[in-house]
Amino acid sequence: MPLPDDLRDLYQQVILDHSRRPRHHGRIEAPCTHVHGDNPTCGDEIDLWLKLDANGNIEQLKFEGQGCAISQASASMMSVKMQGSSQSQARQLIADFRTVVTGEGNISDEDALGELALLEGVQKFPQRVKCATLAWRALEQALAEANGSQAAAPATPS
Ligand code: ZN
Repeated sequence: MPLPDDLRDLYQQVILDHSRRPRHHGRIEAPCTHVHGDNPTCGDEIDLWLKLDANGNIEQLKFEGQGCAISQASASMMSVKMQGSSQSQARQLIADFRTVVTGEGNISDEDALGELALLEGVQKFPQRVKCATLAWRALEQALAEANGSQAAAPATPS
Protein backbone atom coordinates (compact mmCIF):
# COMPACT_ATOMS: atom_id res chain seq x y z
CA MET A 1 0.00 0.00 0.00
CA PRO A 2 1.59 3.33 -0.98
CA LEU A 3 2.03 5.92 1.72
CA PRO A 4 -0.34 8.87 1.58
CA ASP A 5 1.32 11.97 0.12
CA ASP A 6 1.64 13.83 3.39
CA LEU A 7 3.29 10.85 5.09
CA ARG A 8 5.61 10.30 2.17
CA ASP A 9 6.71 13.93 2.34
CA LEU A 10 7.28 13.63 6.07
CA TYR A 11 9.30 10.45 5.52
CA GLN A 12 11.51 12.19 2.98
CA GLN A 13 11.95 15.24 5.21
CA VAL A 14 12.96 13.14 8.20
CA ILE A 15 15.38 10.97 6.22
CA LEU A 16 16.97 13.95 4.49
CA ASP A 17 17.25 15.94 7.69
CA HIS A 18 18.93 13.14 9.61
CA SER A 19 21.24 12.16 6.75
CA ARG A 20 22.36 15.75 6.20
CA ARG A 21 22.69 16.65 9.88
CA PRO A 22 23.33 13.36 11.67
CA ARG A 23 22.81 13.51 15.45
CA HIS A 24 25.38 12.09 17.83
CA HIS A 25 27.91 11.95 15.03
CA GLY A 26 31.52 11.35 16.03
CA ARG A 27 33.54 9.13 18.33
CA ILE A 28 33.69 8.52 22.05
CA GLU A 29 37.18 8.91 23.46
CA ALA A 30 37.10 6.03 25.92
CA PRO A 31 34.31 3.81 24.65
CA CYS A 32 33.32 0.55 26.25
CA THR A 33 32.84 -0.88 22.83
CA HIS A 34 33.52 0.01 19.22
CA VAL A 35 32.06 -2.02 16.37
CA HIS A 36 32.21 -1.72 12.62
CA GLY A 37 29.41 -2.85 10.37
CA ASP A 38 28.97 -2.80 6.65
CA ASN A 39 26.39 -3.53 4.02
CA PRO A 40 28.37 -4.48 0.91
CA THR A 41 25.36 -4.66 -1.41
CA CYS A 42 24.86 -0.90 -1.03
CA GLY A 43 28.31 0.22 0.11
CA ASP A 44 27.10 1.45 3.51
CA GLU A 45 29.50 1.48 6.43
CA ILE A 46 29.11 2.40 10.04
CA ASP A 47 31.35 2.69 13.07
CA LEU A 48 29.53 2.70 16.37
CA TRP A 49 30.85 3.67 19.79
CA LEU A 50 28.92 2.57 22.85
CA LYS A 51 29.48 3.59 26.44
CA LEU A 52 27.50 2.02 29.27
CA ASP A 53 27.12 3.60 32.69
CA ALA A 54 27.73 1.80 35.99
CA ASN A 55 24.22 0.32 35.87
CA GLY A 56 24.69 -1.05 32.39
CA ASN A 57 22.45 1.56 30.77
CA ILE A 58 23.44 3.30 27.56
CA GLU A 59 25.25 6.42 28.68
CA GLN A 60 26.40 7.47 25.25
CA LEU A 61 26.14 6.23 21.70
CA LYS A 62 27.90 7.83 18.75
CA PHE A 63 28.55 6.86 15.18
CA GLU A 64 30.40 7.71 12.02
CA GLY A 65 29.66 6.26 8.65
CA GLN A 66 29.11 6.63 4.98
CA GLY A 67 26.62 5.31 2.51
CA CYS A 68 23.08 5.92 1.41
CA ALA A 69 20.72 8.36 3.10
CA ILE A 70 18.60 5.62 4.66
CA SER A 71 21.55 3.89 6.34
CA GLN A 72 22.90 7.11 7.81
CA ALA A 73 19.52 8.58 8.76
CA SER A 74 18.55 5.34 10.47
CA ALA A 75 21.80 5.42 12.50
CA SER A 76 21.15 9.03 13.49
CA MET A 77 17.54 8.35 14.51
CA MET A 78 18.63 5.28 16.46
CA SER A 79 21.30 7.27 18.31
CA VAL A 80 18.75 9.86 19.40
CA LYS A 81 16.45 7.16 20.77
CA MET A 82 19.11 5.16 22.55
CA GLN A 83 20.77 7.81 24.73
CA GLY A 84 19.96 6.94 28.33
CA SER A 85 18.07 3.74 27.50
CA SER A 86 18.36 0.61 29.56
CA GLN A 87 19.57 -2.42 27.67
CA SER A 88 16.14 -4.04 27.83
CA GLN A 89 14.56 -0.89 26.36
CA ALA A 90 17.26 -0.89 23.68
CA ARG A 91 16.63 -4.53 22.80
CA GLN A 92 12.90 -3.98 22.62
CA LEU A 93 13.35 -0.99 20.33
CA ILE A 94 15.73 -2.97 18.12
CA ALA A 95 13.12 -5.75 17.83
CA ASP A 96 10.29 -3.28 17.19
CA PHE A 97 12.29 -1.43 14.57
CA ARG A 98 13.04 -4.70 12.79
CA THR A 99 9.29 -5.36 12.75
CA VAL A 100 8.69 -1.90 11.25
CA VAL A 101 11.07 -2.42 8.33
CA THR A 102 10.34 -6.11 7.65
CA GLY A 103 6.64 -6.18 8.43
CA GLU A 104 7.20 -9.44 10.32
CA GLY A 105 6.21 -9.89 13.94
CA ASN A 106 4.36 -7.62 16.33
CA ILE A 107 5.32 -4.21 17.63
CA SER A 108 5.34 -4.15 21.41
CA ASP A 109 5.73 -0.40 22.00
CA GLU A 110 4.51 1.83 19.19
CA ASP A 111 5.03 5.02 21.21
CA ALA A 112 8.72 4.33 21.73
CA LEU A 113 9.26 4.13 17.97
CA GLY A 114 8.04 7.65 17.23
CA GLU A 115 9.28 8.84 13.84
CA LEU A 116 11.11 5.53 13.29
CA ALA A 117 7.70 4.17 12.27
CA LEU A 118 8.04 6.29 9.12
CA LEU A 119 10.65 3.83 7.85
CA GLU A 120 8.01 1.16 7.25
CA GLY A 121 8.17 2.26 3.60
CA VAL A 122 11.36 0.21 3.15
CA GLN A 123 9.37 -3.04 3.56
CA LYS A 124 8.80 -3.07 -0.17
CA PHE A 125 12.53 -2.92 -0.91
CA PRO A 126 14.41 -5.90 0.60
CA GLN A 127 17.80 -4.37 -0.20
CA ARG A 128 16.80 -1.20 1.64
CA VAL A 129 15.93 -3.22 4.72
CA LYS A 130 19.64 -4.01 5.03
CA CYS A 131 20.44 -0.30 4.78
CA ALA A 132 17.88 0.60 7.44
CA THR A 133 18.98 -2.11 9.88
CA LEU A 134 22.77 -1.73 9.50
CA ALA A 135 23.21 0.51 12.55
CA TRP A 136 20.79 -1.58 14.59
CA ARG A 137 22.71 -4.77 13.90
CA ALA A 138 25.89 -2.94 14.89
CA LEU A 139 24.28 -1.88 18.17
CA GLU A 140 23.20 -5.45 18.90
CA GLN A 141 26.77 -6.56 18.39
CA ALA A 142 28.10 -3.71 20.53
CA LEU A 143 25.74 -4.60 23.38
CA ALA A 144 26.78 -8.24 23.19
CA GLU A 145 30.46 -7.30 23.26
CA ALA A 146 29.97 -4.81 26.09
CA ASN A 147 28.23 -7.43 28.18
CA GLY A 148 30.91 -9.96 27.46
CA SER A 149 33.56 -7.60 28.78
CA GLN A 150 31.69 -6.52 31.91
CA ALA A 151 31.87 -8.67 35.00
CA ALA A 152 28.78 -7.06 36.53
CA ALA A 153 26.66 -7.27 33.41
CA PRO A 154 22.98 -7.95 34.02
CA ALA A 155 21.86 -11.39 33.00
CA THR A 156 20.36 -11.46 29.54
CA PRO A 157 18.09 -14.16 28.19
CA SER A 158 19.83 -16.23 25.55
ZN1 ZN B 1 22.26 1.69 1.72
